[in-house]
Amino acid sequence: MRYYILFIFLFYTCFSCSELVSNPDNTIENNKVENSNSTEITKAEFAIIIHGGAGTILKENMTPELEAAYKIKLEEAIRVGHTILKNGGSSIDAVQKTINVMEDSPLFNAGKGAVFTNAETNELDASIMDGSTLNSGASAGTTTVKNPINLARVIMENSPHVMMAGVGAERYAEEQGLAIVTTDYFFTERRLNSLHRVKEKEANKEKTIDTESAYLDFYDTDIKNYKFGTVGCAALDKSGNLAAGTSTGGMTNKRYGRIGDSPIIGAGTYANNNSCAVSSTGWGEYFIRAMVAHDISALMQYKGLSLKEAAKEVIQDKVPHLGGDGGVIAVDKNGIMVAEFNTTGMYRATMNDKDELNISIYKD
Ligand code: ASP
Repeated sequence: MRYYILFIFLFYTCFSCSELVSNPDNTIENNKVENSNSTEITKAEFAIIIHGGAGTILKENMTPELEAAYKIKLEEAIRVGHTILKNGGSSIDAVQKTINVMEDSPLFNAGKGAVFTNAETNELDASIMDGSTLNSGASAGTTTVKNPINLARVIMENSPHVMMAGVGAERYAEEQGLAIVTTDYFFTERRLNSLHRVKEKEANKEKTIDTESAYLDFYDTDIKNYKFGTVGCAALDKSGNLAAGTSTGGMTNKRYGRIGDSPIIGAGTYANNNSCAVSSTGWGEYFIRAMVAHDISALMQYKGLSLKEAAKEVIQDKVPHLGGDGGVIAVDKNGIMVAEFNTTGMYRATMNDKDELNISIYKD
């Protein structure tokens, strides 16, 4: 009888060990080493991924000069965060400082380059999340805060709240000593032209692409097409902490007080050390309804999906099924990075702990 119990015990022990090492996922990612029947995850020391918006971005509509300008700015931004991480800094610092570079550039729909609302104003949204504590901060509809991601961070760290909006959020930014600008700081001719163009199409009930978002997307006169230009960053630091942040001007022609997904924790931004860090860009209404960023994390946590599988399920299936479009960038707790989008392009870049830099704009 004793031998029988011992045999049963050994049998179950061996069986459960082999379950632990086998993995049906065949994708070879950044830091994943694979052989025929098992997958060994090699944890990266640190990793960083960014986006500058997704959309109908086609090479034939892009000049070499503009493409170069985007790539230079994406590289400048990601190197800021990468240096912080390499020197042992926190993922939350890396995310904030990387986003600041893109917020200060007129190329992206965030900070300086924010799109115009229907009333020809600029109303900015941002959020940030710390995956080690699930602390998060968000600001919505501000018109005078130079770098909304900085406001999101002080709301997270110095206030008892998660989200503040409008004049109250602006007042808090002032109290916290953040850089305040006059509203004309956000004026750019290019974005105003985009608004006029979208309004014209709206007045003529004319759609230029096959979705309703033609009335709301950010029409970029330079790339002669529609895109979302929000910026975002997700990072893993040497202490194993994940963080993500997102900053945006929202959508061109948005109405009275409209808030998109970018400042919504779980939709535009999410980070959890147990799964991944995610930043979204796309048609915000759908990203809120699909709870995109949290859904990716939840699929990993509760269903055991890999980051790639989870991002694919949400971006290629759930969001388009509802009628929305866009994409995400994300990094998991092992430093595996994924950029998933259902549009023709997404401005994006990655850097790993081997200093390898990758910048892409189009689908392939
Ligand atoms: N998601 C943003 C919004 O709906 C737009 C963008 O990604 O550019 O406000």
